[in-house]
Amino acid sequence: MSTQLSAGSTIETRCTRCKGILNHSIVAMVGEKIVRVECSTCHGVHAFHPVKVPKAPAVVKAGQKKAAAPRKAKADPEAAERAEWAELQPDMDSAQAIPYDMTRVYRLKNLLSHPNFGLGIVQLIIPPNKIDVLFQDGKKRLRCG
Ligand SMILES: [Zn+2]
Repeated sequence: MSTQLSAGSTIETRCTRCKGILNHSIVAMVGEKIVRVECSTCHGVHAFHPVKVPKAPAVVKAGQKKAAAPRKAKADPEAAERAEWAELQPDMDSAQAIPYDMTRVYRLKNLLSHPNFGLGIVQLIIPPNKIDVLFQDGKKRLRCG
């Protein structure tokens, strides 16, 4: 976007009288260089003072703003668990599933069937008597023997 500037073009620059970055029209140029500008606000004609306008006005000072919206993706481990279950599901043979019984001892990767949660795979043994099981609805911590 190299817009060809010429006398009469509008450019944003500092006005010495208004003390702000304002639109000016170019009054005189020498070659590619702007030499005199007229402030569109006070109509004062003055020498052109190049300004370094920050290229990215979107940059917000750290801590000024809250970091966008609350993170959703990270706060949904259940979705990942459901996806994991769906991936394992084809290998689940309900005929082989062990009916869930809180007095029973389970081993890692055991397939069990729970009256409420359905088929699940034992993913973690937590001594002395807990197991983490991945069900269709996500991971559940169950009691075991
Ligand atoms: Zn001005």
